[in-house]
Amino acid sequence: HAKDLGRNNYQFFRQDMNTRAVERQLVETNLRRALGRAEFRLHYQPKVDLQTGCITGVEALLRWEHPEWGLVMPERFITIAEECGLIVPIGRWVLGEACAQLVRWRGIGIPNVSVAVNISAVEFRHRDFFTHALEIFDATGVDQTRIQLELTESVLMHDVAASALLLAKFKAMGVQIAVDDFGTGYSSLSYLNEFPIDVLKIDQSFVRAIESGTGAGRNGAIVIAVIDMGKNLHQRVIAEGVEDEAQLAFLKNHNCNEGQGFLFSHPVNAVQMQAMLGNGWPC
Ligand code: C2E
Ligand code: MG
Ligand code: MG
Ligand code: MG
Repeated sequence: HAKDLGRNNYQFFRQDMNTRAVERQLVETNLRRALGRAEFRLHYQPKVDLQTGCITGVEALLRWEHPEWGLVMPERFITIAEECGLIVPIGRWVLGEACAQLVRWRGIGIPNVSVAVNISAVEFRHRDFFTHALEIFDATGVDQTRIQLELTESVLMHDVAASALLLAKFKAMGVQIAVDDFGTGYSSLSYLNEFPIDVLKIDQSFVRAIESGTGAGRNGAIVIAVIDMGKNLHQRVIAEGVEDEAQLAFLKNHNCNEGQGFLFSHPVNAVQMQAMLGNGWPC
C-alpha cells in the first residue's frame, strides 16, 4: 500500500510540476513579446504626509495588460522575468516611463511630486544599471532628485561593498534611496550606516498587525522601534499597507512621516493619478 501511495504521490507531483512548467513557459513566451507590443502599464499609488495630509509622491507599480488574460499583477510575472533576464529591459522601460510621466506632470503644473520605482535584484546587479539610468535621466530631462529607487534589504545585503558604491553614485546625483519591505530581510541593522538611505518603508505585515486601542501590542512595538530608529538616523519612515483609521491614528501618534495604503488610495492608472494630483486631493 505504501508503494501505491508513493507512486500516486509521485504521479501527482509530476503532474503538478508539469502544469507549473507549462504555465511558466506560457508566461515567458508572452512576456518576450509584451514590450514590443506595448502591453506594460504603470499604475501609481500616493504616499501621504501624515501630518499635513498632502501627497508627497507616488510609487510606480507595474501592470501587464495582456490582450487575452487581462490585467496581470506583478506577482504572476516578476519572478519569471527575473529568471529569464527579461526584467532588465522591462525595468528600463519602467524607469523610462516613470521619468517621462514625471516630466509630463511637471509640464502641466504638478511640480512637487516624486516617483518611487521598484528595482529588482537582477536589475540592480546588472553591470549597465547605472549607465542605463543615466541615459534615461538625460533622455527624459527629468529632475532626478524627484526619483526614488526602492530596494529590499536582501538586494542591498547581497554584496554590501558593491551596493554601497553604486548607491553612492546615485546619491551623488541626488537620486533618493528607499529600503522596501523593511523588517522582513533578516539582515543585521548595522548595514544601515553603510548605505546612504533616505527612506525606510515599514513592511505592511507589521502595519497590518497594529492592534487598535491604546495598547501598542507586540507588532505595534516593532513599528514604533522602526520610526524611532529612522528618526535617529535622519531617514523618513513610510508605513506601507495602511488600511484602516486605527492604524492611521497609531502611526500619527507615533510620528511616522508618511503612509501608503488602500485607506488613502488603491494604485490607479496615470490619468486617475493625474486627476488626484491636479485637483482631487486636498493639497
Ligand atoms: P511593493 O513594492 O512592496 O509594493 C506594494 C504592494 O502592496 C503593491 O502590490 C500594492 O498594490 C500593495 N498595497 C498597497 N497598499 C496596500 C494595502 O493597503 N493593503 C494591501 N494588502 N496591499 C497594498 P503590487 O502592485 O501587486 O506589487 C507587488 C510587488 O511587485 C511590489 O511590492 C514590488 O515588489 C513588485 N513590483 C511592482 N512593480 C514593480 C516594478 O516595476 N519592478 C519591479 N522589479 N518590481 C515591481
Ligand atoms: Mg515598493
Ligand atoms: Mg513594499
Ligand atoms: Mg513587497
